[in-house]
Amino acid sequence: MATTTKSDSTKTTAKSTKGKMENSEFHKFFIDELKDIYWAEKHLSKALPKMQKAATSTELAAAFEKHREETNNHIDTLEQVFEQLGEKVQAKKCDAMAGLLEEANAIIEDTEKGTLVRDAALILAAQKVEHYEIATYGTLRTFALNMGHTEVAELLQQTLDNEKETDAALTEIAEEFINEQAAAE
Ligand code: FE
Ligand code: FE
Repeated sequence: MATTTKSDSTKTTAKSTKGKMENSEFHKFFIDELKDIYWAEKHLSKALPKMQKAATSTELAAAFEKHREETNNHIDTLEQVFEQLGEKVQAKKCDAMAGLLEEANAIIEDTEKGTLVRDAALILAAQKVEHYEIATYGTLRTFALNMGHTEVAELLQQTLDNEKETDAALTEIAEEFINEQAAAE
């Protein structure tokens, strides 16, 4: 695909960008966004036990427990990514995840304990988180590929696949019985 920028006076080629890339603004942005998702994953890992405890059904509680373990793997994977790129492992506050987790907290406060309305609401909050992660990992994976960081792209793809599986698993739980029973409460 041909690309044009607003000021197209200087043409650049995509060839042999690796090496040159490391000091580019784009590469710096990429590293910054990795720090952002690293913060997001670490805080999600801390928030999931509270969501697990708040869940009414054992199914949803188990799904949160499983995803906490997976989230810890995502954290390890990002540490590998930083290492591969020769960058310091560092977290940078992710305002989006902070907001999503705040919303999850509000949902727990606003719904009654022991109801399936609460579970339906918790699934909503959790799926917003998963979609945020899916968007982030999808883009970062593509950036990594563009920059020639093939192995990093593969690591990010693994996490992306797991986030998608989690999202699908949450949909399944919601559709299996939670939404229906929440409507009957
Ligand atoms: Fe994750
Ligand atoms: Fe996730």
